[in-house]
Amino acid sequence: MEATEDGPGRLKRRSLLAGGAAAAVGGAVLGRDELARLWWRLPGVERPRTAGAVDFRGALWVPASPANYRRADRPDDYAVDRVVIHVTQGGYASAVKVFRDPAHGAAAHYVVRRDGRVTQMIRELDVAFHAGDREYNERSVGIEHVGFVADPSSFTDAMYAGSARLTARVCARYGIPVDRRHVVGHAEVPGTDHTDPGPHWDWDRYLRLVRRAGPAAGPA
Ligand SMILES: [Zn+2]
Repeated sequence: MEATEDGPGRLKRRSLLAGGAAAAVGGAVLGRDELARLWWRLPGVERPRTAGAVDFRGALWVPASPANYRRADRPDDYAVDRVVIHVTQGGYASAVKVFRDPAHGAAAHYVVRRDGRVTQMIRELDVAFHAGDREYNERSVGIEHVGFVADPSSFTDAMYAGSARLTARVCARYGIPVDRRHVVGHAEVPGTDHTDPGPHWDWDRYLRLVRRAGPAAGPA
């Protein structure tokens, strides 16, 4: 599962963008769309959000405790270039419960069940505390898979397929290459003592499915 909190909030907004926006506005009459694109780039201004909105169509929205992630504005404040694969080491209900528990200090963006259904608990805009490493949290989307590292039967065909569609969409959205450098296990995060997804997770199969799902695997 996920580990530890990732420290106090830190904003790394691109002040250059704000300067650029101001310069662009000077004297020019901007269209409504251009203004909409520019205003949220200004420091201290967040993009408007729709309550209950998800980043993966069809995902069930079950919000994590705000204590288990940090509000952000990715990919504008932090570039997203990794997907981190996790295994819950427990059932779906307990994973959702701990991610909703402010005392847990950790949560992932998504939870994928054995039947392939996807639950989103944190927006991709935000930095989820799932990797146990601040830099990795800031740069990644975390996907939990319900099951146990030591139990190969945890990882069903439907789970691989559902997760692959999700990862394909994430990779397409941020231009992340579908390879083992960019789609990694929690165990590969620097400094972690976690072992998930473990030896029974079939990486070759998974990446093949992600590539097959491709960017056309469904609407964002
Ligand atoms: Zn993990």
